Amino acid sequence: MNRFELPSSELYIGGRWETGTGAEIVSAFPGDGSINRIIPGASRADGERAIERALAAQADPAWRNLKPHERARFLYRIAEGIDTNAARIAYIQTRDTGKTLRETTALVASAAATFRYFAGALESLDDTLTAPRGDYLSLSVHEPLGLVSAITPWNSPIASDAQKVAPALAAGNAVLLKPASWSPLVSLELARIVEAAGLPQGLFSVLPGAGREIGNLLVEHPSIARVSFTGGTATGRMLARQAAEKLMPVSLELGGKSPTIVFADADIDLAIAGILFGVFSSSGQSCIAGSRLFVERSIYESFVGRLVAATKRLVVGDPFDEHTQVAPLVHVDHRNAVAAQVAAAVAGGAQILCGGAIPQGSAYDQGAYYLPTVLAGLSNDADICREEVFGPVLCVLPFDDEADVIAQSNANDYGLACGVWTRDFPKAWRTARAITTGTVWVNTYKQFSISTPFGGEKDSGTGREKGREGIRAYMAQKSVYVDLTGAPHPWARWPEGSA
Ligand code: NAD
Repeated sequence: MNRFELPSSELYIGGRWETGTGAEIVSAFPGDGSINRIIPGASRADGERAIERALAAQADPAWRNLKPHERARFLYRIAEGIDTNAARIAYIQTRDTGKTLRETTALVASAAATFRYFAGALESLDDTLTAPRGDYLSLSVHEPLGLVSAITPWNSPIASDAQKVAPALAAGNAVLLKPASWSPLVSLELARIVEAAGLPQGLFSVLPGAGREIGNLLVEHPSIARVSFTGGTATGRMLARQAAEKLMPVSLELGGKSPTIVFADADIDLAIAGILFGVFSSSGQSCIAGSRLFVERSIYESFVGRLVAATKRLVVGDPFDEHTQVAPLVHVDHRNAVAAQVAAAVAGGAQILCGGAIPQGSAYDQGAYYLPTVLAGLSNDADICREEVFGPVLCVLPFDDEADVIAQSNANDYGLACGVWTRDFPKAWRTARAITTGTVWVNTYKQFSISTPFGGEKDSGTGREKGREGIRAYMAQKSVYVDLTGAPHPWARWPEGSA
């Protein structure tokens, strides 16, 4: 189904459409493996050209001296461009990632909202006049960092791209965006929209390509002043080491193994619906997937029985079909890695309550499908309960009381998100405060607001995105003291006859 033309295979290098000179990358439709585009990726030479053009464009007074409301105009126009092309972008992202069209449509709307939000934030953020300690004005002002890199994963590219590019441009920087190799198309489409919005040439580049080649350059090049990274914990750790060498700030949005807690007094129907959405939407390929489920022992058997029955009813299929709930995974290689993790868990004693297999039938043969899977009989320190699967796999475990579930939830290297289901608000509050995590949802899951900061603890990363202060992460803070008296400093009053 080719409803819209896909972007060409050219890259957006410093404001010009050029053919990459790096290794080829392949974008394929995960529903049937058909090729979307074969793209010559960005080489280091392409990246260096983008950096040169970006530095020139960022230093140009035509950009650098814009007032906040003038810079905001570009972001409003980009938001408008995203909205106008929403159906096309959603289609491209579904072709690129296999996510359901319903989900990619929502992600596109959120990307437009992100540009609009940061335009508004930019117009309304103030610098500060600080309390003086003498006869001078003391001010704290913010300036662009210069050139920043944004490195994003394949699971929600348009949303991850917008969360980095919008605040970075709002802050007055030039931005180099590197999308993941499995999902280059939607970021290239974003480049078309940015170009059509009239952003001065050179300020924005989209450089898909190999992480070790172009990705590395976008971190280690001396002109890069900051990196905003979303991806796996191992890659993030490596980037942090490179950043430390340069003493460069880096924000890291990494993986997760998020606990969802169901207390015996929860509204069971609400909890089941929220848990299924929290772990199986995006086919579990979500950093915040609620993939460790803790159920209070007194309701464990009945709750898990109902949960498994509901899981079996989920519709697995074509991401373009509006009834589909669980679409294919991003790539057959990734699906096979998920299947291997489940097989290892079973070999280690896990019991498959449902799923645990590739769906059978001609509709699934060519795609990267995997059935929504529920595993039991595990301990919290089993590999599959500790490690991120990034697929439709839920581990269920019983707990005894509040203290027990808080301890089990926290006994994990990750700390990205948590769900709590209970009718007892004080208990929800106590639990929310006791879990080491970046986000807690109470009686809901996977809800977001661009005005609410997002980020992780422990191995889930460092730094926060979103929120008004999100722009500040892309700015340098400077203190300015202005004398108000014109009087010479006492040091200038030399003893008579000494000068
Ligand atoms: P990944 O770490 O393999 O890749 C992420 C990005 O980094 C890609 O663009 C990749 O090409 C690039 N990269 C790889 N090696 C690099 C290097 N040496 N230097 C610079 N860049 C390099 O992750 P992925 O498989 O694309 O995405 C899945 C991971 O992302 C999961 O662990 C998931 O939890 C995480 N994620 C986190 C969040 C969050 O906000 N916390 C959101 C989405 C995804």
